[in-house]
Amino acid sequence: MVPFTRASDDDLLTILCSFANFCIEPLAAASYLIGCVAAGEAAVVDPGLPAATYALFAADKGLRIRYVVETHLHADYVSNGRALAALTGATLVLPQRAAATFAHRALDDGEELQIGKVIIRALHTPGHTPEHTSYLICDTPRAARPWFVLTGDCLFVGDVGRADLVELPDTGPAPLYTSLFERFAHAPRRCRDLSWALRRFRLRWQSDERQSVQHDRV
Ligand SMILES: [Zn+2]
Repeated sequence: MVPFTRASDDDLLTILCSFANFCIEPLAAASYLIGCVAAGEAAVVDPGLPAATYALFAADKGLRIRYVVETHLHADYVSNGRALAALTGATLVLPQRAAATFAHRALDDGEELQIGKVIIRALHTPGHTPEHTSYLICDTPRAARPWFVLTGDCLFVGDVGRADLVELPDTGPAPLYTSLFERFAHAPRRCRDLSWALRRFRLRWQSDERQSVQHDRV
C-alpha cells in the first residue's frame, strides 16, 4: 500500500473511510479491509488469512463485506477469497485478464467498485503477472483524487515485485517498468515511499541493462 497523501490528526477525526491492514507473517503478504462507516459496507483485498478473521473484524466494526477483491491470481499463497465470499455472501472480484473459470465479477482497467462513499478504481499494472491489477482508493468526502493505492505484488514500500516468476506475455521487467513509471506516473512527487522504490528499481534496471550489454560483448 502506498499513500499519496498523509492524513493529519484532524483528518483522522473526521474520516469516513475505515482502513485496516492484515499481515500473513511467514510470507510477509498483506491484505486490507476498506470500509465506509457511513454506509456500513466494506471490501477486503487479497485475503490470505482464514476467512473468519476478516468476517469477525468487519462485524466488530459494524461493516458488511460486500466485495472480496484480488490483485492477481497468487502463486505464493492460497487465497481465501472464495471462502470469504462464500462465508459473507460478498461478490468475488478478479482482474478481467485473469480469465478465471469460477464464479466472479471481472473488473477491467479503469472500472470501479463503490462501497458507500469510497471508490475502488482498477489500475492494470502487469509485469509480476499478466493480469496484475492495483487499486486506487478514493475517499470521496475527503478528496476527489485518490488517497492511496493498493499495489499488490507490483510495488512494495522500498522495493518492487518479482518479474521473473512466470514467462507469459505482459510479464517480466519491461511491462513492470511501464507499470511503475507510466501507470503510477500521476502519483505526487512528495510520495517518498513510491519515489524511493522507483529509484531503486531504475538503478537495478540500469545495472541489469549494463550487464546484458557486457555479456553481449564477451
Ligand atoms: Zn504474487
